[in-house]
Amino acid sequence: MMTVDLYKILEVSPNASQEDIKGAYRRLAHKCHPDHNPGNAELEERFKHVTMAYEILSDPSKRAQYDQFGTVRPGGVGFDRFGSVADIFEFFFGGGFGGGPFASSRHRPRDPAYSEGEDIVETITFGLKDVLTEQQVTIKARRLEPCPECHGSRAEPGTQPTTCQQCRGSGMVSSTRQTFLGVFSTAAPCPVCRGSGQMIESPCKACRGTGVTARDRVVDVTIPAGVGNGTVMRLAGSGNAGTGGGRNGDMLLRVRVSPDPVFEVDGPDLLAKLPMAYPELVLGADVVVKHLSGDNVRVKVPRGTQPGDVITLRSQGLPRLTGAGSGDLHLQVELDMPRKLSRNEKQLLTSLLELNGKKGAHAGKPRKLRKPQII
Ligand SMILES: [Zn+2]
Ligand SMILES: [Zn+2]
Repeated sequence: MMTVDLYKILEVSPNASQEDIKGAYRRLAHKCHPDHNPGNAELEERFKHVTMAYEILSDPSKRAQYDQFGTVRPGGVGFDRFGSVADIFEFFFGGGFGGGPFASSRHRPRDPAYSEGEDIVETITFGLKDVLTEQQVTIKARRLEPCPECHGSRAEPGTQPTTCQQCRGSGMVSSTRQTFLGVFSTAAPCPVCRGSGQMIESPCKACRGTGVTARDRVVDVTIPAGVGNGTVMRLAGSGNAGTGGGRNGDMLLRVRVSPDPVFEVDGPDLLAKLPMAYPELVLGADVVVKHLSGDNVRVKVPRGTQPGDVITLRSQGLPRLTGAGSGDLHLQVELDMPRKLSRNEKQLLTSLLELNGKKGAHAGKPRKLRKPQII
C-alpha cells in the first residue's frame, strides 16, 4: 500500500518548525487554491491534501501522534494502514472524509431516517468431526428490523417530516472564515438535521423514533464441509436493518472448532500419533486405525520403520472448503515401549540380547555414541 508522507505534501522537512509549516502552507495553499485556479481538478485535489496535512501538522499533539505512527522518523513504524491522505485525516478527525470540512457541493439531502444497519456476529461451535460433512445449523439471533408501525420512517404514522429551519432543507450550512489567506467559505453538513434537510417533529412512539425494533429470529444455515477454526461466513443483508434507504448490516457467523483429543489440524491435513511395538516396526505390520470419521482405516507400516517416521494417507484429511478434494492424514510413528513384561516376553528378549552379543561376554565393550539431531 502507498505510504503517505504529510511532510512531503507540505514540502517541508520532518524537523520543520511550526513557523516553517505555516509558511509552507501559506505558499502552497495560495498556489493551489481553487479560487485562483478555476476548473483545475488536479490543483483542487492538491489543495485539499495540503490543507489536511496542515490541519494535522499545525496541531502539536496531532503532529506528535502522526510522527509516532508515521514513516517520517528514521526507524519509525510504517503508516501502511493509511492508503490516502483522506485515511489519515479520518484517523485524526473521524467521521468520514465525506462529511468532513471538504464535503463536496455534490452533497444531496438524504432521507431523515437514513442509517445503515450494523453487522451482527454469531459464533457457532463445532467438534472437529463435524467439519468432515456439511452441517445444517439453526441460529437464534436478535436483530433490529424495520419498525412495523412507521416502516422505518421514524415519524409517527400520519405525520410528515418538516423542513429543517437551520439549513432550509438544503442539508448544508456554509460558514465564512477569516484566515491569513483571505476569506474562505466552507460548506458542511447541517448539524441540526445531520445533512438530511428534514426534521422529524413527531417521532414514532412504537420505536421511539429509531425506525427499528429488536426481533428474535431463527435462521437456518447450511455450513459447508471443511470450515476451520476462525472461519467467518457472511450472510449479506441478514444483520440489523438499515433505515431510510440505508443498507442492512450483515450477519457474520464465526466458526469455532473445538480441539480434538486425538487429531491435530494443519490446514486441511490431519496429524496423529501411531503407537507401534518394537517387533512391529522391525518386521513391518498391517494395522487398522480409527479415523476421525469413525471408520476403520488400514495402514501399512513398512519393515524397518523408525520411531518418528511419518506415514501419509492421501486424501484422508479434512475436506477443503473450496470443494477441491481433501487434505492428507499424517501418522507419526511412535515406539510403544512396554513398562511391564510377562516372564515369557522377558525370556524372549533376553535371548534376543544374547543373540546380538549385548549381554554377557561383550556387554562391557564401549558403545559408539552418535551426534544428536537438533530439530
Ligand atoms: Zn416506528
Ligand atoms: Zn438542516
